[in-house]
Amino acid sequence: MKKHNFSAGPCILPQEVLKKASEAVVNFNGIDLSLIEISHRSKEFIEVMENARNLVKELLNLPEGYSVLFLQGGASLEFLMAAYNLLKVGGKAGYLDTGTWSSKAIKEAKLLGEVEVFASSKDQSYNYIPKNYTVPTDVDYVHCTSNNTIFGTQLKEFPKTDSLLVCDMSSDIFSRQLDFNKFDLIYAGAQKNMGPAGTTLVVVKDEILGKTGRTIPSMLDYQVHISKDSMFNTPPVFAVYVSMLTLQWLKDLGGISAIEKINQEKATLLYNEIDRNSLFIGFAEKEDRSLMNVTFNLIDEAYKEAFDKLWNDAGISGLKGHRSVGGYRASIYNAMPIESIQVLVDVMQQLEKNYKTKNQKDESISK
Ligand SMILES: *Cc1c(COP(=O)(O)O)cnc(C)c1O
Repeated sequence: MKKHNFSAGPCILPQEVLKKASEAVVNFNGIDLSLIEISHRSKEFIEVMENARNLVKELLNLPEGYSVLFLQGGASLEFLMAAYNLLKVGGKAGYLDTGTWSSKAIKEAKLLGEVEVFASSKDQSYNYIPKNYTVPTDVDYVHCTSNNTIFGTQLKEFPKTDSLLVCDMSSDIFSRQLDFNKFDLIYAGAQKNMGPAGTTLVVVKDEILGKTGRTIPSMLDYQVHISKDSMFNTPPVFAVYVSMLTLQWLKDLGGISAIEKINQEKATLLYNEIDRNSLFIGFAEKEDRSLMNVTFNLIDEAYKEAFDKLWNDAGISGLKGHRSVGGYRASIYNAMPIESIQVLVDVMQQLEKNYKTKNQKDESISK
């Protein structure tokens, strides 16, 4: 039986998508060739790219004036590319620091100009989202991270600014409804909620580009990629295809509004158990909790071995917290069925039961 996959990324994809993807690797759409051995300039692949692009526009409900790109280099390269394309020579950018990924974005932007970190939750190991901050007005753009994959916090409100708004949505894009048109640049590594590793989604408002006064290397220039429909060089054909399948799966399910409801139910089920169960404690502040990455700890480390054995035996995989945080992290992305979360909840309840029985025994012995 397939395991209950709580991995943070690369992570779970819909079972039917995996099946279709595996078929395409052998024989793509009955053309007697593999998807990964045909030209990216073939009409078959151009159609895949167009479909993928259109699905993004449709699901995010984007108005005219946005370009959708499938690039390489991960979200990590976008940390640099965003700055290259938007930070003016001699200009300044404002960053909201809510975790490891924000910090990495800040580091890259500093290579190209001045960066003002206008708020940070580093003081409490990033277990909350800063609020009541003042966004600087003398900046070329404001950057934020919508979901902090490692710490399990999520922005419910975005910085209010008249400057350009840039967001790393790697780990929660397509998971909840937002006014995507209030963002000028969105980027997301595919491997958390969209597809396999290997491609990065970039959604950019065309009119904001070409204004920095700097020379941008071709591969880092959004305008170059836009002019070539994401085919300036060979695109990651397999990753784009599987992303397209996943987006189609989401559309068939009813789109973002439908998945958002399911995601809320899933997260509520797990957070309720964390709060109810006497052995566990959540890591993130309640009001800032992520619907995608649920971080929690055992109150008493003495039960670690017993808990780890229980969830392993239940067929659960990928529950270990990020190496920088420890504890546990249940990543419950779009493709995660609620049944798998129920299995985890059952295991948590079982641990509590075992512990209580043991305590009762200990008490009766000491009497
Ligand atoms: C995983 C992740 C990244 C890094 O993505 P890569 O594709 O590995 O470069 C960046 N930001 C966030 C929010 C992430 O979750």
